[in-house]
Amino acid sequence: MHALNPVYTALPTTIFEHMSGLARSHGAINLGQGFPDSPPPAALSAAVTRAMAERSQHYPPMAGIPELRDAVATFYRHYQDLDLAREQVIVTSGATEAIAAAVLAVVSPGDEVLLFQPAYDAYAPLVRRVGGVPVLVPLRPPHWHYDRATILAAIGPATRAMIINDPLNPTGTVMDAATRAMLAAIATTHDLLVICDEVWETVRFDGQTHASLLNEPGMAARTVKIGSAGKIFGATGWKVGWMIAAPAMAAVLAKAHQFLTFTTPPMLQWAVAEGLGDPGLIAAQVADWAATRNVLNAGLASRGFAVLPAAATWFTCIDLAASGIGLDDRTVAERLVAEAGVASIPLSALWEGDDAPRHILRLCHAKPAAMLHDALDRMARWRDALS
Ligand code: GLN
Repeated sequence: MHALNPVYTALPTTIFEHMSGLARSHGAINLGQGFPDSPPPAALSAAVTRAMAERSQHYPPMAGIPELRDAVATFYRHYQDLDLAREQVIVTSGATEAIAAAVLAVVSPGDEVLLFQPAYDAYAPLVRRVGGVPVLVPLRPPHWHYDRATILAAIGPATRAMIINDPLNPTGTVMDAATRAMLAAIATTHDLLVICDEVWETVRFDGQTHASLLNEPGMAARTVKIGSAGKIFGATGWKVGWMIAAPAMAAVLAKAHQFLTFTTPPMLQWAVAEGLGDPGLIAAQVADWAATRNVLNAGLASRGFAVLPAAATWFTCIDLAASGIGLDDRTVAERLVAEAGVASIPLSALWEGDDAPRHILRLCHAKPAAMLHDALDRMARWRDALS
């Protein structure tokens, strides 16, 4: 038997699938993998059904239906002051495909790519699979700052690109304006391309609107910005995402996309195009998630769990040691799901190397209040039985 590619043979199954599998087999409440419990907005589901009946179900244009590409451009003009043409929007089957297509198009063998830890677990294997070298730069809790000196020390003659995730999953933190300016200055000075995974851009609870690195001076020609309808509308299974880039770069990104999934289901594209044109729909989603976040965070605090500062995403992280749990995050995640019936994500699963923080657990708050209360009671009982 031939050996398969070592990048993949050496890989574990993604932590999200692993924890959801354990949740299924233990019948646990799943606060691990990030997905809302409720369906997407009814208007969106109705739009899919309508598109199924009224529109073609055959291959749509490879880069996306023009109506969705225009809707994405209009959406970013309205929310983030970006001036985009249709040609700059390439629709993908989810943001994970967009990340893969961007890495395929940007990274060549031998290129070094800066990744900031904790990092979404797709980034490093994709870089390795194309022959690139991930250079892992740590962000430090509790504020997950980007440290200029550490970044500069990681840059060498082979550095070609960096992958930035803002707002940041798993921590739920948001980059400040000074950090954006600093990263843009580093990218322009060192001639780096930047893949910006901004899928959490609308899921914010600090009353601020997202500002993209793409809008910083000098970044328009060197940035691939990635977005996701799954996050904006709480429709994770739809797998509709997109890449945004300058026209010449977008044309090359489209060539990577054309041999990954080629197209994305047209009925879903039609529905997302309608949804993006309805600001009320997006605001209602965020209001729902602000409420679930309050339930989880208040419930954690009242039960003596230490909540880390965050302002975005469907996630809240807790400091285990400060919550009276003297076990590492992996052990806690594996035991909590089996013994208490609550699935979570250990932050160290999103960090390579020996210096991973091992005292932080991620919980998804986008669930009904009763489910969150039940999970909280189970977690508190489990912790109290430890001592
Ligand atoms: N982004 C999701 C999360 O953080 C996981 C996506 C996936 O499971 N591939 O939970």
